[in-house]
Amino acid sequence: MPLDIHIDDVVRLRKPHPCGANQWLVFRVGADVGIKCMKCGRRVLLPRSVFEKRFKAFIKRARPSLEDILAELSSSEGANK
Ligand SMILES: [Zn+2]
Repeated sequence: MPLDIHIDDVVRLRKPHPCGANQWLVFRVGADVGIKCMKCGRRVLLPRSVFEKRFKAFIKRARPSLEDILAELSSSEGANK
């Protein structure tokens, strides 16, 4: 399943940056994923396949995931019945 990433998501990778931080802000999403170290500001472009291999977890979502939106829709439908 492809990762559902958006600009302004904050992610954790499997390996921390050499500066010691492990929080990255997504600034570009496409064939390459652009991430910026939240501590030292270093910007890195990774091919999407490499990014998905290094990805560990979301720290902050810029917007709800599709699963969350669908869950909310189905629960509000249930509340209207
Ligand atoms: Zn850094």
